[in-house]
Amino acid sequence: MINKSTIDQVYEASRVEEVIGDFVSLKKSGANFKGLSPFTKENTPSFMVSPVKQIWKDFSSGKGGNVIAFIMEHEHFTYPEAIRYLAKKYSIEIEETQQTEEEKLLNDDRESMYLLSKYASDFFEKSLWDSEEGKSIGVTYFRERGFSDQTIKFFKLGYSSDKIDVFSNDALKNGYKIEFMIKTGLVISNEIQKSNVDRFRGRVIFPIRTMSGRIQGFGGRTLSSYKKTAKYINSPESDIYYKSKTLYGLYEAKQSIAKENCCYLVEGYTDVIQMYQSGITNIVSSSGTALSSDQIRLIKRLTSNIVVLFDSDPAGIRAALRGVDLILEQGINVRVCTFPDGEDPDSFAKSSSSSDLKDFLINNAKDFIQFKAKLLLHESENDPIKKTSTVRDMIESISKIPDIIQQEFYLKSCSEIMDVSEEVLFSAFAQENNKKHRNKNVKKYQLPQTVLKKTTPLKKINDLYNLEKQIISILLQYGHIEAEYEDIVVKPNEEGVLIESFEKIKSKVYEKIFLDLQEDEIELADPIFRKLFSQLISAYQTKADSAINKLIFSNNSDLNLVVTDIIMETEKYFLHSWETKNIFVKSKTKDIGQLVSETILSLRKNLINEKINDLKSELVKDESINNKDLLEDIMNYNSLKKIVSNKLNRVL
Ligand code: ATP
Ligand code: MN
Repeated sequence: MINKSTIDQVYEASRVEEVIGDFVSLKKSGANFKGLSPFTKENTPSFMVSPVKQIWKDFSSGKGGNVIAFIMEHEHFTYPEAIRYLAKKYSIEIEETQQTEEEKLLNDDRESMYLLSKYASDFFEKSLWDSEEGKSIGVTYFRERGFSDQTIKFFKLGYSSDKIDVFSNDALKNGYKIEFMIKTGLVISNEIQKSNVDRFRGRVIFPIRTMSGRIQGFGGRTLSSYKKTAKYINSPESDIYYKSKTLYGLYEAKQSIAKENCCYLVEGYTDVIQMYQSGITNIVSSSGTALSSDQIRLIKRLTSNIVVLFDSDPAGIRAALRGVDLILEQGINVRVCTFPDGEDPDSFAKSSSSSDLKDFLINNAKDFIQFKAKLLLHESENDPIKKTSTVRDMIESISKIPDIIQQEFYLKSCSEIMDVSEEVLFSAFAQENNKKHRNKNVKKYQLPQTVLKKTTPLKKINDLYNLEKQIISILLQYGHIEAEYEDIVVKPNEEGVLIESFEKIKSKVYEKIFLDLQEDEIELADPIFRKLFSQLISAYQTKADSAINKLIFSNNSDLNLVVTDIIMETEKYFLHSWETKNIFVKSKTKDIGQLVSETILSLRKNLINEKINDLKSELVKDESINNKDLLEDIMNYNSLKKIVSNKLNRVL
């Protein structure tokens, strides 16, 4: 784990406008900066950065947050990766903490393995471009495949000499330990002969990178036509390379995948590279293994649309179909695209122009379920037994889809394609599902149907939501300010009789809100607001002025986003017009104390109203019992409502 003081230093040093400026061209706009959203394809800038508040907001995608959130969002880094990135940018030395001896050793080992892999990658690249063997064999091969020099360099392709230990000797000379060469699989040790042999010999090299760009393994393609050698060999799994959690090309493709909101999936290295060179940059491959659910999860961080590109050969298609069910399971929309006879993605991309390729992919990507239904149907025509199993097969695929509305849609379309009645298909489907759920001991599955739920009218929800949002907004902006409120105070007079009077009370805004809500036992209904509320209150209770910063810089992204939204919304309204009916504008012109009272009273009134309506509907529903109690409750709430309304009128 990264030391807390390192993280603090990173936050202190980082300027959100500088960090974002590396990726987005920003122009000054009032107190803020504006630019084109890096997350969508827009023509008018709606991306805002506030240097004062050190936050950003992308109005076209709804994303926003602090500097860390930007790096995580844009580079698809994890939190520690983002900290490391900024630490590097601002030359802050990273201190690690809270590691057991064992963890430290493992981390040191992993770090050594990464460093060695980087060294190896550079070494292979140099061998490709600088050695006679590399130039005459490696570069020639790549060029013949149709890779431009620029592409070869972009993917850091390399060459490893035919000789037995060129790499290991060089690495040893440069201080790298044999232990890590073996752990990364770059070198194979022969215990008996006490000799070490380079794993990749006489091969062109494809370095494999992590999502954040570090070299973690290699693929190597042989250039000899000797039949007994495997065409491709890969690094073995290691502490830095897990095949099932790696996608080749992901580092290069991630931004384009997010931007295009779509990911193309191919079989291996050369498909990725050829496609990329032809302008399809949102492309990855699972590299030689069957697609795993971890790999799909990696893609899902970026998009929920995948297009699988298949070779034309039917056997390959059949085999690949199974893997696609895994993608369906994660609620991803899958389309498939096949190529003309005898072509694979690599050859097709090589022989078509960039715009033809793009058009082809767009025009030929078919919905997976429909594609599979047609394919299987074609194979089972006029064979009832085969057709039955085809129907079962389809149903199995559809049952993998988590969304029931989508399931229903597919069942209908399959019924059409395969000419099976909807009733039969739906009941076979229910059977399949019940079977599955019985095993898992889950309650019985019912046929998908449109459920009409009784819901409260939208307007009311919005009122409550907006009031809660306003409470949070007030807390964020004025929580620590001392304000004056008018309130009804009940006190005994000289004769000991309780009387009500209006009095002015002074207290901090956060205290007033906290105590008032507590008195009425009001909890905010929205879970995020509720969480924010308690964090803000406790932040103010400990150290008032840093409450907002503490929240913005907390690592809880759902809260971050809400806080940023509320603050930026305020900014936006101030920028655009003073005339909007917006609450925030009002708050500047009216007394804060008044605003606080008004908001709390409105919230109370709203809740009381809701309560009264609930009771009334109970009254209608249940004519027999407890009518008296219900009526009494309603009356009580009505008088409470009157008090609140009176107070509210006085405030307004
Ligand atoms: P050829 O020139 O004979 O077509 P190739 O290098 O194109 O050979 P293919 O056998 O056509 O290789 O393989 C199809 C795709 O799968 C290519 O993108 C290739 O790079 C990739 N591939 C093959 N084996 C592996 C592997 N073990 N790991 C990762 N990718 C692989
Ligand atoms: Mn090929």
